[in-house]
Amino acid sequence: MARKMCPVCKKVVEEKVVKDGDVISKVCPECGYVFISYQKGKGVLVLNNVKLSESRTV
Ligand SMILES: [Zn+2]
Repeated sequence: MARKMCPVCKKVVEEKVVKDGDVISKVCPECGYVFISYQKGKGVLVLNNVKLSESRTV
């Protein structure tokens, strides 16, 4: 486990690791802020609470 600064809570929290199938997310245990979420074989899905796939508009 790692400690991270949550920009929403404004304090250092112990990041919670959530596994959903082959998707692994590291979230704030207090507010649910997503530090990072990644899927095996696909790479990073969410970084700093921003969905990367949605931000890519080609
Ligand atoms: Zn938080």
